[in-house]
Amino acid sequence: MAELRDIAQLGDPILRQTAQPIYHVQEEWVQRLSEDLLATLVHANAVGIAAPQVGLLYRLLVVASRPNPRYPTAPEMAPIVMINPHLISHSDEIVEDWEGCLSIPGLRGLVPRYREIEVEFTSPDAKLQRMVMRDFVARVFQHEFDHLGGTVFLDRMNSLHDMMTDQEYLKRIVAHPAEM
Ligand code: ZN
Repeated sequence: MAELRDIAQLGDPILRQTAQPIYHVQEEWVQRLSEDLLATLVHANAVGIAAPQVGLLYRLLVVASRPNPRYPTAPEMAPIVMINPHLISHSDEIVEDWEGCLSIPGLRGLVPRYREIEVEFTSPDAKLQRMVMRDFVARVFQHEFDHLGGTVFLDRMNSLHDMMTDQEYLKRIVAHPAEM
């Protein structure tokens, strides 16, 4: 039975440290961590989560986009657990969109990211996988991948003027996307 884990908040030094590779992906603790991260993500209305956010400095992240109260327009997809992920290549094209973070509650920021990326990772069944991701899902990956290196979305913003509270984001951006 998966357990909800506490989420490290900005200011916790663990969010600024570099995560370590997982060498034995089929050990039970890795399986349990994956299940707990997914349950924590769903409970918190997130679309992605990385192990350092629950206090474990390991290179494991979950991408699990679906529409929810925090991201009403997110696309639906089957959750993907990625162990030791790498960014293989990326498009030249960079797009800006709004992001939030479970570790930075209440705030949204406009963040530039690559529109399309190719990633490699190990799945929980110990198989090496390659995947092309684009748009919102690619954004989620890049956000979570940053957490493995101690980077948060605030570090990627062009201007702190491109920041708003959750309440304003849901009122201005989600309700009236054409006004962006
Ligand atoms: Zn985050």
